[in-house]
Amino acid sequence: LETLAPRMRRVRPSPTAAISDKVRALTAAGHAVVNLGEGELDFATPPHVCAAAVAAIAAGDTKYTAVAGTAALKAAIAAKFARENGLAYDADEIIAGAGAKQLIFNALLATVAAGDEVIVPAPYWVSYPDMVALAEGEPVIVPCRAEDGWKLTPAALLAAIGPRTRWLLLNSPNNPTGAVYSEAELRGLADVLLDHPDVLLLADDIYEHVRYGYAPFATPAAVEPRLRPRTLTVNGVSKGYSMTGWRIGYAAGPAWLIGAMQTLQSQSTSNAASISQAAAVAALEGGLDFMDDWRARLAVRRDIALRAIARIDGLSCPAPEGAFYAFADCSGLIGRRTPAGRVLASDLDVAEYFLDAAHVGVVHGAAFGASPYLRIAYAVDDAVLADAMDRIAVACARLG
Ligand code: PLP
Repeated sequence: LETLAPRMRRVRPSPTAAISDKVRALTAAGHAVVNLGEGELDFATPPHVCAAAVAAIAAGDTKYTAVAGTAALKAAIAAKFARENGLAYDADEIIAGAGAKQLIFNALLATVAAGDEVIVPAPYWVSYPDMVALAEGEPVIVPCRAEDGWKLTPAALLAAIGPRTRWLLLNSPNNPTGAVYSEAELRGLADVLLDHPDVLLLADDIYEHVRYGYAPFATPAAVEPRLRPRTLTVNGVSKGYSMTGWRIGYAAGPAWLIGAMQTLQSQSTSNAASISQAAAVAALEGGLDFMDDWRARLAVRRDIALRAIARIDGLSCPAPEGAFYAFADCSGLIGRRTPAGRVLASDLDVAEYFLDAAHVGVVHGAAFGASPYLRIAYAVDDAVLADAMDRIAVACARLG
């Protein structure tokens, strides 16, 4: 009765969700826990976006829509790509879904045959390898080095490509490292891909607007137009507009691929919520003026986290260029002993110690394919963040 399908052996529950569950349990038990494990902004969704959702309900915009998104949302997405990325897409080259996550999953499910390889540079977003595995593919994890800014090099890409390579998954700004690929770096990777015409490229641009430098944002399909016919550019409103709960992501790519993703979506979840789609139109058409303030506030938080990390013996972290995570090296804490006498043998041990001793949730680097590191999500209130970092410092000082 309780036998699961064999494919369930290929997937693990999200490790970030496991930390969040433990945080909730401690909170329910009355502890003041700070969760620096969750990948979302604490800013409210902009009011004009919320107003558009309320208006959609009032207008009776509450029924099924076209599977790949309303005409209005597709037009807003096309305009966004043209305006912000210099990319022109027709309606049949665009799809909206319930988050970037659903679109990445559908893209892989639609294209990966059993045994096909998908190149996943590490550190990676936790879901990539499991999604590849669920599609019966083989994730080929390519470790990137902190000395290289955590970025995939053309040489490492070339070495990873084999006869069964189907996709390269690229994520910039990166979760968990905050690394941002420059146009020149993407150019170097594109040159390798041009020699391998059978490899598809997925550009996960979900953190596009969360960057701290002044360098323009670069996305592969725009950097190398010859890659455009085999590039799926994925984006969404979750991170940039603080709309994680609305569940709207979108993707643009060749019509054959978008069509297949639409077929999968039509037989599984159908359209994303009509009300959320209306809200996403308002977000995409509403301008980015508020973003300057958000970036400035996030930069302050990034500095609070980085300054605290620099003061803690055993932790270190270079300044991330984007997203809202500090990916801190915790090798200096490995082998140290807790007041209870437990030796910290891994980054998971360190994360558990921080949760137990400091009541601060962070995610261990192993979840992202790099150890020993900790991902500290700093998109929380300044004072809360400063307090959490103080508590971590105290917990570290108590190590033997
Ligand atoms: N891609 C990356 C790199 C992410 O970090 C996340 C969310 O954590 C997603 C995609 C999924 O975003 P969405 O909320 O649009 O499904």
